[in-house]
Amino acid sequence: MLGAGFGGLEIAALLSAGFGDALDLVLIDKSDCFVFGFSKLDVMFGRHPADGAVHRYADLVQPGVRFVRADVLSIDPTAKRVDTTAGPFVADILVVALGADLHPEATPGLVEGGHEFYTVAGAFALSEVLADFRGGDVVVGLTSTPFKCPPAPSETALLMCEFLTARGLRDSSTVSLVMPLPLPIPPSPLASEALLAAFADRGIAWHPDRLVRALDVARRRVVLADGGELPYDLFLGVPTHRVPAVVASSGLAVDGWVPVDPLTLETRFPGVYAVGDVTSVGTPKAGVFAEGQAAVVAARIAALLRGDATDRTYDGRGVCYVEFGAGQLGKVDVTFLSGQPPTGGFEGPSSALMADKVEFGRSRIERWFGQRG
Ligand SMILES: Cc1cc2nc3c(=O)[nH]c(=O)nc-3n(C[C@H](O)[C@H](O)[C@H](O)COP(=O)(O)OP(=O)(O)OC[C@H]3O[C@@H](n4cnc5c(N)ncnc54)[C@H](O)[C@@H]3O)c2cc1C
Repeated sequence: MLGAGFGGLEIAALLSAGFGDALDLVLIDKSDCFVFGFSKLDVMFGRHPADGAVHRYADLVQPGVRFVRADVLSIDPTAKRVDTTAGPFVADILVVALGADLHPEATPGLVEGGHEFYTVAGAFALSEVLADFRGGDVVVGLTSTPFKCPPAPSETALLMCEFLTARGLRDSSTVSLVMPLPLPIPPSPLASEALLAAFADRGIAWHPDRLVRALDVARRRVVLADGGELPYDLFLGVPTHRVPAVVASSGLAVDGWVPVDPLTLETRFPGVYAVGDVTSVGTPKAGVFAEGQAAVVAARIAALLRGDATDRTYDGRGVCYVEFGAGQLGKVDVTFLSGQPPTGGFEGPSSALMADKVEFGRSRIERWFGQRG
């Protein structure tokens, strides 16, 4: 099992629950901890300390699962062999859940004159930057597609407004949001409508169908792909996403991402599955979709181990929470089926949904890490 994020942790937990010590699952990740994407925003805006957002793999107690902290250096999908900094491993069944790597350096000026809030390091460092911010022009912007968690940039713009208001800096600041989409969350028109109403209410300047090409650091200008410019004092960017280099060189990726059977998540290499952000399965890059895919792969592996069959296939459904600020949350429920337009609903925004989101995180940590997580 390569990668201990949303996808990898879910597969490990489900198989451990089913097989216990009879399982022999090696879970490999280069990091020493898991951090929810939404916790990055909590830490960045000073709502939670960084310590509380970090879940250490050393605390993972799952019978039949061995966590190995190592960098995956090469993957041979035909031989199901991986080389890592902890040595080679040969698998009967291989699952690739290595997510998307982030490349701030791909956008000129971003590293030198801006900030990104998608990596753990970037988001955590921003908590100090924001604490020192004295107001001005804030631009939240996307630098490429595809990108993880489509609601996150909208949430960031709304939470920025809340943050500035709480510090008495809202009147001396502007907040702009640059996105390469016609709507904040195109698959959910109702959620998009609620977000656009919130942007209008909070005075957020919404720039749809645009991408950030570069930052002109000397002139403090955000340069858009269409040639337009926006002044900035604080730029909060979503960096370029790519498959990890080890996946690119493995032969698993086609046109940048790993194609899989949309119903079984199997790659074109028999016995090699891929789930989550690393794939081009057709759902948004979000943890809830990685988790749903993981459940299907776990069911298929369980059937193989038992020597029977499963008809379980992926349903393309994901439910996620959208922060509007001031304790208000929306709940988006969308289903993506191959070849059909997405369908789904939207609830809120309301303060009652906060308890749902807290339970979402708590239940995952309990399931993924065992009692001590
Ligand atoms: C700001 C923000 C907010 C978000 N909010 C939400 C939300 O509210 N709900 C939601 O569902 N999703 C949210 N997401 C998206 C979510 O975090 C990802 O989509 C999800 O983590 C993808 O799961 P995954 O298993 O595919 O990959 P990841 O969870 O990214 O896991 C991949 C793992 O692979 C490891 N890895 C990579 N390369 C190597 C290598 N060479 N060797 C060893 N290990 C390696 C990494 O260390 C990582 O642990 C958010 C993301 C961000 C950035």
